[in-house]
Order: sequence, then C-alpha cells, then structure tokens
Amino acid sequence: MSKKGKVYLVGAGPGDQGLITLKARDLVSSCDVLVYDNLINPAFLAETAPECELIDVGKTPGRHTVEQEQICKMLVEKAQSGNLVVRLKGGDPFVFGRCAEEMTVLDDAGVSYEIVPGVTAALGCAAYAGIPLTHRDYGSSISFLTGHEDIEKEALRIDFGKFAATGGTLCIYMGMSKLEEIVDKLIAGGLPDSKPAAIVSNGTLPSQRKILGPLKNLVGLAKEKGLGSPAIIFVGNAVGLAGSGDWFEDRPLFGRRFVVTRPVGQNSRLKKLLENKGAEVLELPLIKILPADDRKLVAEAFAGIATYGWIVFTSANGAREFFNLFFRAFGDIRSFGPMRIACVGETTASVVRDYNLEVELIPPVSTAEDLAQSLVATESLDSAHVLVITGSRNREILVNLLESVGHAIVDTLSVYSTDFSDVSEAAALQDFREKGADALVFSSSSAALSYVEQEEDLVLEKDARVPILCSFGAQTSATLKENGLSVDLEAETPSLDSLVDSLVAKFGRSS
Ligand code: SAH
Repeated sequence: MSKKGKVYLVGAGPGDQGLITLKARDLVSSCDVLVYDNLINPAFLAETAPECELIDVGKTPGRHTVEQEQICKMLVEKAQSGNLVVRLKGGDPFVFGRCAEEMTVLDDAGVSYEIVPGVTAALGCAAYAGIPLTHRDYGSSISFLTGHEDIEKEALRIDFGKFAATGGTLCIYMGMSKLEEIVDKLIAGGLPDSKPAAIVSNGTLPSQRKILGPLKNLVGLAKEKGLGSPAIIFVGNAVGLAGSGDWFEDRPLFGRRFVVTRPVGQNSRLKKLLENKGAEVLELPLIKILPADDRKLVAEAFAGIATYGWIVFTSANGAREFFNLFFRAFGDIRSFGPMRIACVGETTASVVRDYNLEVELIPPVSTAEDLAQSLVATESLDSAHVLVITGSRNREILVNLLESVGHAIVDTLSVYSTDFSDVSEAAALQDFREKGADALVFSSSSAALSYVEQEEDLVLEKDARVPILCSFGAQTSATLKENGLSVDLEAETPSLDSLVDSLVAKFGRSS
C-alpha cells in the first residue's frame, strides 16, 4: 500500500527564477519534501504545494561537514518512507554541488533517484554580464575551477600556476576569500598581468554586480566596488570581448526594489513588468480575496443570466470569481448567453478573453464615470438589463449613472469580498524590514487601509531604504491621504502599464 519514494537531485539555476528548467519546476511544485540550499532563489519555496515539507539545509561555515552526512541520511529516510523528495541545489547539481556524495549514499541504500541539470553559475553569470566564454580566435576551452572545495578548508587545493599555462577561459567558483592568492598564483604561473578578467557577484539576480579589467587590477576593483560572495572570477582572452554595454544592469529599474501589496497570485503581471525593467520585487500582500458569501444572490443572477443585454466586469478579481462561480453552476460556456461585455481596464479584459469571449467595450480611462459614459454612448442601454459584477466595494456611482443617464435596469452581483491579510505572515517581510525598498505600491484603497492598520509590523530597521508611497489611482491616493500618509507618486492613468511608466519616470536611470 505504501507509495515508493524517490529522490530527485535537481539544479535550480544560478538565481533568476526564470533560469530553472521546466522539469525542475514541475518537480518543485509536485514534491512531498523539498530539501534546499541557501543559494537557491527563495521564490521557489512559494511554488511548492501547501502540504510540502520544506527543509533548509543551507550551509554556513562551521556546520558543514556534519551536515552533509545528515543531509544524505535525511534524503534516504524521507524517500524510504514513501516521499517524492526534491534535493534542490543552486546552479547544477554536478558542478561543485556535492551531488556525487548524495548519489553514492542513495545507491548504497537502494533508493532510486534521478538527476536534473541546471544552469551553472559560471554560465548564468557570463550571459547576464555579457562576458563571452569562447571565441573562434580568442578562447577554445573553458575550465571550471574552485577556489576551495569546502568552506572549512583553508588552503587552495588547485595549482593555479598550472592553469595559467592551460589557457582558454578560467571560471573560478568559491574564489573570493582567496582572490589575491589566486591572482598572484596565476601571474606567477605565467599569465600576463594584463590578461582580461572579470568578477560577477550575485549573478542573474537584481543585486548582480560586475567588474571588468586586467588581471592585475582585479583585487583593487573588487575592493573598490565591494564585491563579495557568491561570485565567479573569469580570466581569459574571450573575457576581453565583453560588450561595452550591459543589457542586464542597464535596464531602467536595475538596482531598484519595489513592494507590491496585492493578493498573492495577482501580482504576477505587475511583478513581471517591473522585473523585466530590472527591478527587484517584494511581495507583501496586504489584502486577500474571499469568495462571495451570498450564494443565494449568485444563484438568482445566474437563473436570469440569459436576460441581460450587457455584463460589466469592474475588476479582474470580479471577473475571475465570476467565472469560477459560473462554471461551478453551468459547466458549459454556452449558458453565458449572447450578452455584450464591458470591462474596466485591460487586465480585467484579459481575464474575460481567456474564455474566448469578446470584450466589446473598455473605457479609455478606468473609472466608474468613464465606463458609464462609454456605455451610454453605445445608445443600447435604454430599458436594457445590465449585470454589474463587483466585489464588496460600493459601485453606487456606476449603477446610478447607468440608471439615471442611460435608463438601464441594473442588477449588481457581488462575487467576492476583500479582507486584510496578515502581513506578519508574508515571507518577504523580514527582507523588507532589513533592507527597505524604493517604493511601496498600493493598487487599491483596501490595501492602503490594511497598511494603515498594520504599519507597526512594517517598521523598518535602522539602515533600511525608506520607501515612498505610490498609488494606482485617485481613489487609493485619497484613502492614503485621509489617513495622514503622503502619496509621492500616482499612476497617470489607473493601469499597470501606466504605473510602471510612472515608476520608470521617477526611478529610471536615464539611458
Ligand atoms: N552548483 C553550483 C555551485 C555551488 S558552489 C552551480 O552549479 O552554480 C557555490 C559557488 O557558486 C559560489 O561560491 C559562487 O562561486 C558560485 N555561485 C553560485 N551562485 C552564484 C551567483 N548567483 N552569482 C555568482 N556566483 C555564484
């Protein structure tokens, strides 16, 4: 009856969440136990199933050797009790990842396993820093070396002098604490001190930093720029071909940190838009969406659904919840009927379009007044039945305008309600309190109110960056101001794209 356990030794890639393989991602989201290192992007933890057991085996100096045995033992035990275990490691598991030791122990214990490769740090760092590793004329080999195999080992084990003679491109892992010694040995071994070299620290992450220069300047440059671990040291002629531009660090919001406060799962578009511009995004959900509590009203609206001339979705949450309820009631899209569809905002419309339904009207500006005006302008409202899908927030202005100006017969259907979510439970809270951010982004009045209520939990530590407050639209700004908070930035129009444009205008580096 017991399920057979298995271990997957999986590479998570060098840092950027997008650099994990599809196979690894599937395993992360379906495993029973995730055993992970401190070099993996913590965002992967949020992708596990709710019942998944998360085990942090992050290595810190001084507790390394004992732990490796314990890790191996744990993998065996967890698999033998029937679990699908993912051992997630930074980069690639076979590149300085102690995967060989774990594999041997699993073999000895007769536990079945698979290995999933990952983008190793040297390749990730090289790509994200624009540093070529090979070139037809300037570099025909690549070596991956380690400054020290074990954090506890003091001496360099590799004869760097010999590698000076090897030529090609050297990619040195775990070398920062011995940087000076490594450089000296390479030069003593015969490498010219003018040999092109580079260091990339925190590669592929929003905190990536790099230096480029001749080998002899490497130590000085690293000190000057404060580069530390984790980092890869590159040496070789191909490194000298690094572009003068920098696609990764030149993105307009590189080095900026923003906090988004929408419910989990809805930040993704805003998060993606900001990350694509180079920003680091922290998620601190201040509100959560709860399904409609009045099932009877929902059932009544659905009973008469074929009678409506228009359906109006005022928010993406509303659209999402509406279709959840709809498919629970009907199971077939044809029951939706031939009504025309209006949506406030592109994000809302995209939820509706996911069902292959055509959105006929999106007001140019995402406000109740503009929506009403645009609907009235269609001259189709007189005596028409209109169904307005809302959340718990009052949509009185919209309903009044549709009824008084458009002479429509309006029903409203509240399909969800918002509640404050407990910010002390947010995984990113500690990071926010320690380092702060450039801006806190509020996309709704309820998020603003939740912030006011929980401000004490969000107090920053001494040296943290103090964020400005940024609002999605007039209503949210008004709520912040009513509560004595100053709004430093408001999106020109209430849309995600406009919000991102405003942040770029305020924080973007001029290119
Ligand atoms: N298995 C990993 C390497 C683990 S050893 C891989 O394939 O990438 C740890 C070393 O990897 C660090 O000391 C550093 O040299 C390098 N490293 C890991 N992540 C890095 C990153 N984001 N940026 C720069 N170097 C990184």
